[in-house]
Amino acid sequence: MKAFEIAGMKVRPGTRKDVMIRISEFYTATPVFIPVTVLHGREKGPVLYVAAAVHGNEINGVEMVRQIRVQVDPRRLRGTMILVLIANPIAFLAMSRDLPDGRDLNRFFPGREGGSMASMIAEAIFTKVVRLADFGIDLHTAATGRTNLPHVRVDMKSPILRRLAAAFGCEVVFDMPGEEGMLRRAATRAGIPTMVYEAGEPLKFQRNLIRRGVEGIRNVLAELRMCEFPRTSPVFQIVVRDHRWIRSAKGGILNVQVKPGDMIEKGHTIAVNTKPFGTEVSRVKAPYTGLVVGCTTLPLAIPGSAVCHLVDLQTRHRVVRRLLERQALVFE
Ligand SMILES: [Zn+2]
Repeated sequence: MKAFEIAGMKVRPGTRKDVMIRISEFYTATPVFIPVTVLHGREKGPVLYVAAAVHGNEINGVEMVRQIRVQVDPRRLRGTMILVLIANPIAFLAMSRDLPDGRDLNRFFPGREGGSMASMIAEAIFTKVVRLADFGIDLHTAATGRTNLPHVRVDMKSPILRRLAAAFGCEVVFDMPGEEGMLRRAATRAGIPTMVYEAGEPLKFQRNLIRRGVEGIRNVLAELRMCEFPRTSPVFQIVVRDHRWIRSAKGGILNVQVKPGDMIEKGHTIAVNTKPFGTEVSRVKAPYTGLVVGCTTLPLAIPGSAVCHLVDLQTRHRVVRRLLERQALVFE
């Protein structure tokens, strides 16, 4: 095996190396680096990148990557792992999802030289890291004021992503290509099939969701035959195409009565909307029988506020109900 080259540095076979890769500059005229760990195996195999904190306040993934960094032994690895511990350090420092100019880095991939700050940072990450890989996993949480049931998002048109999504081991797999400019979409289009793991809320370390994510990455490493980790698998797995956010029609203070992982019947109450005095204004009800995969964490609504992300289970509701009786889903 040859040394692995990244940003002008060399990583010898069977070793782990922490590198700082320059992606931009601060107002202080000092460089912005992203911390990256390369684990380079002794035997030939695929190159897998795992990225955390593309959105700067989504830090569950940072801890997942830190745990993977020490759990994978490069002497027993087939192929190479590139771990991006903090992909968006400018937003991470500000504890915010987006860059200081309000741009969402995850709408600018693959980026371009001479573009906006977001576009240039995206370009640097894409050319210096992502293009070196064969596959990728991008780690996210819900946005501020929301929380997500752990799930993966992939474009199921890609056979390898179908395989990796199944192997990751979440109960819920969203079949969605992603919006233009998302890392996973741009990378998949560039021949580096990339999946997203979504779990929990921003600005927290949620131990159970981190554990599920680490297990998922280990499952993918086992599926790609890069590492001999024992596999874990969920009690059930559903591929989801029909889902939407159920919104409040009225303004008011919400008493949300469901949580991620709950199954709710058509017509049942999701939230009671009240006046400041506590009297009821209206109810948000389930328009179909479904599985809750996301929820607001903010009990305040105006007309149009998203309350609950509900998967339409259609004919699968009996099976899912039976399985949920055996094992509740973990959401925090
Ligand atoms: Zn995100």
